[in-house]
Amino acid sequence: MLPELEYPVRSLRGIGEAREALLQEVGISTVADLLLFLPYRYVDRTCQTGIAGLRVDQEATAVGRVASMGVISGRRKRFVMAVEDGSGYLDCVWFTGYTYFWQAFSKGDLVAVGGRVARFGQKLQMVHPEVEVLSRGEDEARLHTGRIVPLYTTSARMKAERLSSRGLRRLIYGALEAVSGDIVDPLPPSVRTRCGLLPLASAIRTIHFPDSHEEAEAACRRLAFDELLFLQLRLGGLQRAREGQPGRPLRACGPLAETLVTHLPFQLTGAQRRALGEIRRDLSRPVAMHRLLQGDVGSGKTLVALLAMLAAVEGGAQAALMAPTEILAEQHAGVLRELLAPLDLPVYLLTGRLRQVERREVLKALACGDARIVVGTHALLREDVVFEDLGMAVVDEQHRFGVLQRAALREKGEGVHLLVMTATPIPRSLALTLYGDLDVTVLDELPPGRGPLVTGWRLAADRHRAFSFLREEVVKGRQAYIVYPLIEESGERDMKAVTRAFVDLQQGPLRGLRLGLLHGRLPADEKAAVMSGFRAGQIDALVSTTLIEVGMDVPDATVMLVEHAERFGLSQLHQLRGRVGRGAHASYCVLIADPAGGLTPEAHARLDTMARTRDGFEIAEMDLQIRGPGQIFGTRQAGFPEFRFAHLGRDGDLVVLARRAAKGLLDADPKLMHFEHRGLARRAEAVDLGGMRIAEAG
Ligand code: ADP
Ligand code: MG
Repeated sequence: MLPELEYPVRSLRGIGEAREALLQEVGISTVADLLLFLPYRYVDRTCQTGIAGLRVDQEATAVGRVASMGVISGRRKRFVMAVEDGSGYLDCVWFTGYTYFWQAFSKGDLVAVGGRVARFGQKLQMVHPEVEVLSRGEDEARLHTGRIVPLYTTSARMKAERLSSRGLRRLIYGALEAVSGDIVDPLPPSVRTRCGLLPLASAIRTIHFPDSHEEAEAACRRLAFDELLFLQLRLGGLQRAREGQPGRPLRACGPLAETLVTHLPFQLTGAQRRALGEIRRDLSRPVAMHRLLQGDVGSGKTLVALLAMLAAVEGGAQAALMAPTEILAEQHAGVLRELLAPLDLPVYLLTGRLRQVERREVLKALACGDARIVVGTHALLREDVVFEDLGMAVVDEQHRFGVLQRAALREKGEGVHLLVMTATPIPRSLALTLYGDLDVTVLDELPPGRGPLVTGWRLAADRHRAFSFLREEVVKGRQAYIVYPLIEESGERDMKAVTRAFVDLQQGPLRGLRLGLLHGRLPADEKAAVMSGFRAGQIDALVSTTLIEVGMDVPDATVMLVEHAERFGLSQLHQLRGRVGRGAHASYCVLIADPAGGLTPEAHARLDTMARTRDGFEIAEMDLQIRGPGQIFGTRQAGFPEFRFAHLGRDGDLVVLARRAAKGLLDADPKLMHFEHRGLARRAEAVDLGGMRIAEAG
């Protein structure tokens, strides 16, 4: 963001080796880092009244003279400094650092104190307030009181070594004074004015020391805009580069797709037909397709993908479908084989768990062209996988893959047409951001004949009712999922937790039912065996971690019971719920909240949202909204690309604005070669797409 300030903080006055090491603790090593180290919050201490006018619980600033100081050793030893302004007295109280305070202030000093007003007995007090000694000239620049004051995150060691929020404030102020003149605004003034944005240098200054909350917001918008613009320029550049490359027109002519459709036990939905039309049109053009197929869980994306793959096969090419997990790849292969049975077209499967001989067979068939259709995991991306003539790549549940991985599959052929699919409905702002380089097709219609789906959430105390309900469903011949949250990445503790739950259920509320257990630590063969047992109806209830979250399709499963539902993100709950409601029977999603320290308002809102609506797009919007509050600046948000400044829940309009600006810039100067655009080109180039993906919500 500030390449001209990428030099060590140590070169600033007042920062030596010791401070440099401390600043490293919060990731600050260059001057640019320091200036872009944003406050996590502000306190408004502009409210300045006489001491008599202070109200309890108010954030305020008072100015007066130090009337007395002393250490009081009561139940808790403390340092108390009384400040007086003619209208009354205010006690400033500290529970640590006595010797420091003795030296810091003297009786008679004129001080400004800022903090939250409290009452202690008859007296007004502030605990650990900020103090500035005005009589010593510190009011040249009032940084800590009498204004909107920024608060910064500090590490424990920083606090111990007296580099507090206050210290950072001073350093940042000093740095701004010294170098803000060097800041180069990469945005051409015309774009800046058109979009109504602050100049970069004033935005950076303002974000630390705003005169009003509106100003802080405007500053924040500027930084967020830049971040989004650089990303859009990068994605737009990729898109243009791709469009410059010739694709290969695939003219579907054979009867394969026709035959398949006539053998289906149902009609294609209107949305499926529309999607297929768009895809076929793309395939016939001499430009490689780059299309996102977005459709809510259960909308029938697999069939669309298969028909598209058949079109490619009929056009003389090979087609590959890549899924994020082995379970899903195997399921897809099974479904495709069944659907393709009438066509006599074999489906090859390539996953990491094939034996050497099998693997070699598949590789050979792909290389010589015997295999026309292959399904696999990212095992497809390995270097030794060579296609005779790959013409079409489909990536399912693509939010599990990074941008670069989906590109990698395309590189297995020339001018490969790409179709990526996602069941994670994405609000428009996010779609534009993540898929700025894709055309989008939406499957906005569920196949008919689905039973109703009822969602409710319960506190853990009512758990037994949920389990007896689950039993009743099983007695009716239905199946159930019981899901436990992921506890850690490596899976060791997950395995223990879910295994213990499995045993408890087997001996307790679900005794006598046929239970299956599924977690990430099971050997692949066992996973596959459990899954096929469940699919075949030999297992009544599947006790699992979130492994089953994506793509599973078992129409007789009518109950989804989620334990510790308060720990899941909205989009993940929506995915889980999507595993039921796939058949003609009524289905039920039961969310059990079992919070350790009470249900947070956010968790409450999530559960209510789930109970209220089934609409994936509405849920996705809510997800962005709920994640938003509480973080002025979007810090790391699991589940979304990691923006430092932009907040997609709040900045939807900015995304559109940035996208439009990027398009304008690239239309005028496709390679950003003009000297006025050099700064933008450099920053766009630096955008890290490798880390860009939508991970599971947490
Ligand atoms: P998703 O979009 O979540 O990947 P799937 O492709 O797994 O959904 O489809 C869900 C189920 O709907 C499958 O069992 C599939 O056979 C069925 N299905 C797909 N299209 C139709 C249709 N047009 N009419 C009825 N059922 C359909
Ligand atoms: Mg699917």
